[in-house]
Amino acid sequence: MLLPILRWPDPRLSQSCAPAVLDADLRSLAKDMLETMYAAPGRGLAAPQVGRLVRMFVMDVGWKTGEPAPMVFVNPELELLGDRILGPEGCLSIPGPVTDVERNDQVRLRWTDLDGGAQDATFDGFAAICIQHEFDHLNGILTLDRLSPEARSVAEAEVLA
Ligand SMILES: [Zn+2]
Repeated sequence: MLLPILRWPDPRLSQSCAPAVLDADLRSLAKDMLETMYAAPGRGLAAPQVGRLVRMFVMDVGWKTGEPAPMVFVNPELELLGDRILGPEGCLSIPGPVTDVERNDQVRLRWTDLDGGAQDATFDGFAAICIQHEFDHLNGILTLDRLSPEARSVAEAEVLA
C-alpha cells in the first residue's frame, strides 16, 4: 500500500522517534514503506516520513547492480567512522532543493532485522550517506537543520516557492 509522504514543515518530521516494537504491524509498515520508497522514487525512507514515529527506516542502494536490494533497519544504532565529506542530498519530504550536507564517509550500524535477528555491518559510499540521512529522520533532524543559516534560508525559500 502506498503511504502519503509528509512534507516539511510538518511538525512530525521534527520529532524524535520511539523504539520500534517488532510485530505484524511493523512488518506491514516496512513493506508499505519499501513500496512507497520505490514509487517515489527514492533510495531511503524513514518511518516518521509517513507519520509513524518509530525507529525504523528502509533503503535500497542496489541500483548500480540493477538488482533490487531492499533493506529494513529496526532500532538502528549508528557509529560514525571515516572522514568528514561534503556531498549533495535530496529528501522526499523536502521536494525541490538538493543541498550540500557534511557527513562521514563510513559508518557502522547495528540493528534488528524483520526476523528479530541482531545485525552489525559497516557501510561506505552512498550507503553510508543514506544511512546517516535516514538515521537523522529518527531523531527529528532534517537536511535543513544541517545547513548554515544562509544556506537554510535559500533552501527554505526554494521549497516554499
Ligand atoms: Zn529525508
